[in-house]
Amino acid sequence: MHVEIDHPCVQHKLAIIRDVDTGHKRFRELATEITKFLCYEALQNIKVKSVTVTTPVAEAKCKKIDTDIVVVPILRAGVGMLEGILELVPTARVGFVGLFRDEETKKPVTYYERFPPQIKGGTCIVVDPMLATGGSTVAALDLLKQSGAENIVVICIVTCPEGLKLVEEAHPDVAIYTAAIDKRLNEKKYIVPGLGDAGDRLFGTTH
Ligand code: URA
Repeated sequence: MHVEIDHPCVQHKLAIIRDVDTGHKRFRELATEITKFLCYEALQNIKVKSVTVTTPVAEAKCKKIDTDIVVVPILRAGVGMLEGILELVPTARVGFVGLFRDEETKKPVTYYERFPPQIKGGTCIVVDPMLATGGSTVAALDLLKQSGAENIVVICIVTCPEGLKLVEEAHPDVAIYTAAIDKRLNEKKYIVPGLGDAGDRLFGTTH
């Protein structure tokens, strides 16, 4: 299952973040702002509990979030989405997955993995701005499930049909929230039109 958030506030920011002339400071800010909107949608059905709160006037029946939330950025570019999630859910815990692509096998290899125990029973949010081939996302989801996570959503800023297909076939229980489903991957496995190398643009590692 995937959801493309076509809200004007998201699409406006997407137009700016895609622009080749947007510098790394603004790119980072926009990644945070877009992530916050996507996270808001992705958490729409999380578990809540009823509570009674005493206001200065009377008692009010309210709802509070009733699940541990764990955000898992896929290194490196996923870190650029962390702030947006934490602004929305300041109590979220953070796990990390680091993967690189073995150039011989073309398969993702894990070089770092650290999850808080709350992934078991909690709600995990895997974040990576570009869901391109889907290989890293599938590997991250495999690792999380092997470690006991059951309830997982993925948030990316841009994706494409190839990546969605791979992730949805491997993990049909995981919902994917995105701001855009672009046309395709090019021969270098970049999303077209995409927004370029998200890690480089976030961290200013381009010329
Ligand atoms: N990773 C990126 O940063 N950009 C792409 O287009 C694809 C993968």
